[in-house]
Amino acid sequence: MKSPTIGVLALQGDAREHLRRIESAGATGSPVRREAELATVDGLILPGGESTTIAKLLNRFELMESLRARIRAGLPVYGSCAGMILLADRILNAASDQDTVGGMDITVRRNAFGRQVESFENRVPMPAIGAAPFWAAFIRAPWVEQAGPRVEVLGRVSGGAADGRVVAVRQGALLATSFHPELTDDGRIHAFFVDMVREVVSGASAVRDPAGMPR
Ligand code: GLN
Repeated sequence: MKSPTIGVLALQGDAREHLRRIESAGATGSPVRREAELATVDGLILPGGESTTIAKLLNRFELMESLRARIRAGLPVYGSCAGMILLADRILNAASDQDTVGGMDITVRRNAFGRQVESFENRVPMPAIGAAPFWAAFIRAPWVEQAGPRVEVLGRVSGGAADGRVVAVRQGALLATSFHPELTDDGRIHAFFVDMVREVVSGASAVRDPAGMPR
């Protein structure tokens, strides 16, 4: 099978490291800034940054509606940090006029870990990607406060003040983490997402949806 092309939304935030990780995982990485570029990708990463700003830019660049439509049609999307907030159907602690892309039946709390801990690293056991816990970097990160029945919890913080908080989730072709896997040395999250994209490209996606529903 030809290697899938995975876009990284490059309106704001850290696209470059994600593109590098996609290539290391054996797929083709491609920055996405306009609709014609979005139309060509097999999967998309929404990177960290500032979710309010990214949502505004999605509207300004007229990408919001086409992105929602592609998500409804089953495009695999991975959202990291601000990207997780953008994939959430519901946001707590949102800016007053904050828009969201939506698609995942989750409620996320923005800046959940508190101002005094702007950034930290912690271990996150994630059996779906392997036995060793993921060493995760959190930067003004959200957490998942509530998740619907079709959402699979892939990881929770282990240890420290936020012990047990949900920080990695999947719903069908959508994947989200509170943390930034592009900033630490472990390539397993990107490899996991590339595998998800390959499954969808080869037509096997519905098999992995917990409710067995094609999306
Ligand atoms: N706190 C940011 C927001 O609300 C997310 C931070 C990040 O992506 N590192 O968008």
